[in-house]
Amino acid sequence: MKKIYVTRKIPDIGISMLRDKGYEVDINPHNRPLTKSELIEAVSQKEYDAVLSLLTDQIDAEVFDAVPSAKIFANYAVGFNNFNIADAKDREVTLTNTPGMSADTVGEHTVAMLLALTSRIIEGDVYVRAGKYTGWDPMLLMGTDLEDLTVAIVGGGRIGYRAAYILGKGFGMKIAYYDVQRNEHLEKDLGAVFYENLDELLKVADIVSLHVPLLPSTHHLINAERLALMKPTAFLINTARGPVIDESALVEALRNKTIAGAGLDVFENEPALTPGLIDLPNVVLTPHIASSTVKTRDQMAIRAVTNIISFLEGRVPPDVVVEN
Ligand code: NAD
Repeated sequence: MKKIYVTRKIPDIGISMLRDKGYEVDINPHNRPLTKSELIEAVSQKEYDAVLSLLTDQIDAEVFDAVPSAKIFANYAVGFNNFNIADAKDREVTLTNTPGMSADTVGEHTVAMLLALTSRIIEGDVYVRAGKYTGWDPMLLMGTDLEDLTVAIVGGGRIGYRAAYILGKGFGMKIAYYDVQRNEHLEKDLGAVFYENLDELLKVADIVSLHVPLLPSTHHLINAERLALMKPTAFLINTARGPVIDESALVEALRNKTIAGAGLDVFENEPALTPGLIDLPNVVLTPHIASSTVKTRDQMAIRAVTNIISFLEGRVPPDVVVEN
């Protein structure tokens, strides 16, 4: 009987698919990520054939060596920066992710964060709840109209496309993008203008929305120097990965109002926050929930499990990141 270790409870639909195959499935019993030593301890209990991991698990040589029988690790996420790719290659372990499953949901969350900032939804909510609303005021909490503003999509892949689609088609925004490769769909469908140089794009953007994977080349892609290039009226949205922004530099920029505001779903050292961030009124913060809808999380579970089943049945999994 094949044995699967799941590092934290995921939607039942995925677990049922594994059990329906007759596999033995063990799941981390805690409602929290395992520590590194707990994870190593857990996966070394049996000769597991596969591990279903989460983005909160740091998977490297120590984990692979604790369960040498598992030749596939299936990540329940599109990002896979939690894996040490070189260690996986060395040990001939196949890695998979769940690309495309969350693009619509994360794109919509991006737009929700943007609207929360430009329509000042959170500030208005806090104001009303605090009992400060004493009557209509012609100058109260004035926001920003989006039509004809330029949104810079940094990383014009699946999620970037979805956010750009809604903002371009729905709100009449101009779309510009920066990427290491051109996306003809963005250009043809949405008239997006490609910028080869990120610095030039940051200078003209009213909204900057980050959709790059976390890689050595994107770590602190938005740093103090680049924040200084942005307009003082510009907003920055990050639904990608926290370390893409130098969060201390961002807090400084927000505090000094060298940019207008930021929407963050991800944090540099999450769940810890850079001191000062939560004291700022011009930020909207969500706890890494951009892909969290019932439909999307179910689809992610199905996809991660499909990768495992394909591999264990001798087929090439649909979403191979590192091939065995
Ligand atoms: P994708 O692969 O479709 O798109 C990423 C784009 O970034 C690609 O077009 C790629 O060419 C580009 N890129 C890569 N390196 C770059 C670089 N150095 N500079 C500029 N562009 C670069 O991925 P996606 O599905 O759109 O997801 C993007 C990221 O969003 C994921 O990697 C993940 O980290 C993050 N994400 C976050 C959540 C969340 O819950 N907040 C959910 C899903 C995904």
